[in-house]
Amino acid sequence: MEFTIERAFRKTISLRVKDWHVVVKAPYFTSKRYLREFVEKHRDWITRQLEKSEAAQLSPREVEILKKEAKSYIPLRTEELARIHGKAYHGLRITSAKTRWGSCSSKKNLNFSYRLMRCPKEVIDYVIIHELAHLKHMNHSRSFWLEVGQMMPDYVQQRKWLKKNGNCY
Ligand SMILES: [Zn+2]
Repeated sequence: MEFTIERAFRKTISLRVKDWHVVVKAPYFTSKRYLREFVEKHRDWITRQLEKSEAAQLSPREVEILKKEAKSYIPLRTEELARIHGKAYHGLRITSAKTRWGSCSSKKNLNFSYRLMRCPKEVIDYVIIHELAHLKHMNHSRSFWLEVGQMMPDYVQQRKWLKKNGNCY
C-alpha cells in the first residue's frame, strides 16, 4: 500500500485518507520500516476509508444513472412493503443526501437518498422499513426497534452492513 510521509515535531503517528491517498504524519525519528508496518496493520481501516471517499465522489454520469434507478425502484418497493405491513405514508421523495439514507417527517413524508441504490437490496429494504417504522414512532425507542424487528427479523445484519460501509443508521 502506497503512502506519503509528513514529518513533524510530534510524538504520535496519525493516519489520514485524503482524495484516494494515504498520508502518515510521523515524528522525525520514526523509521520508514516501522511506518510501513503501521500502515499494513491498519490496512482494513484504510480500505474502508478509501471506499468511503470513492462513494462520496461519483461522476455526474453515475449520479444520473443511480437517480434514475432510485426513482424507478424505491417508490414501488416502498409501496409494496407498506402494503405488506399495513403502513400509510403521505409522499415520497428521492434526495441527494450524502449522510442520511432516509428520513421521515412528522407529516408522514418519506425521503430516500439515491445513493441507496449502491447498497444490496436487503439493505435498501431495511432502510425503507426503518422509515416505515418511524411513521408510528418518531424516535429510536425500544418500541421503534421492536416494530422494525417485527417487519424484518434479520434487520441487525443490514444495520451492520450500513455501519461497516460508512453510515450508522
Ligand atoms: Zn431512524
